[in-house]
Amino acid sequence: MINAMYPGSFDPITNGHLDIIKRASRLYDKLYIAVSDEKSAKHRLFSVNSRVSLATEALSHMNNVEVIKFRGLLVKKCEELNCSVIVRGLRALSDYDYEFKMALMNRTLNNEIITLFMMPHEKYTHVSSSLIKEVSLLGGDMSKYVPKHVQVAIKEKCEK
Ligand code: ADP
Repeated sequence: MINAMYPGSFDPITNGHLDIIKRASRLYDKLYIAVSDEKSAKHRLFSVNSRVSLATEALSHMNNVEVIKFRGLLVKKCEELNCSVIVRGLRALSDYDYEFKMALMNRTLNNEIITLFMMPHEKYTHVSSSLIKEVSLLGGDMSKYVPKHVQVAIKEKCEK
């Protein structure tokens, strides 16, 4: 039985994240989507509970995927949930620098946990939660890049 963890801020979950989750869920018995709840985190559009709810709704049809909240060291959470793999998505070269350092740091902390990078479908390589928020706040249509319920939630935030 191999468990994997896909961590991130998911503020909010996008079709790019969902693409990675679909691919990863085929490889592992159980995939945890770990939504970060860092005290020091930069400003988020959605609270951690909203980010968890939006992700849970998007993933309700996938029975080996579970959305959890997470705070603290990622490798500790992996050890606790018996995850031997950390999944991360790679879009463009610009992701590489940060991801490379983080993967090596996590390996230093626990050499038994493997970080696995996956590429999404090319139609999502330019998609990020932050760009979606930025364009949505300006009134742009992001329906190609987020599930319907996420689009509605962003719209509600924009109207506030
Ligand atoms: P973080 O704050 O950790 O970057 P994100 O929620 O932005 O959290 O992203 C979580 C993971 O998903 C990261 O590995 C990121 O590179 C990846 N990711 C984000 N958007 C996409 C996308 N469109 N395609 C593939 N991977 C993505």
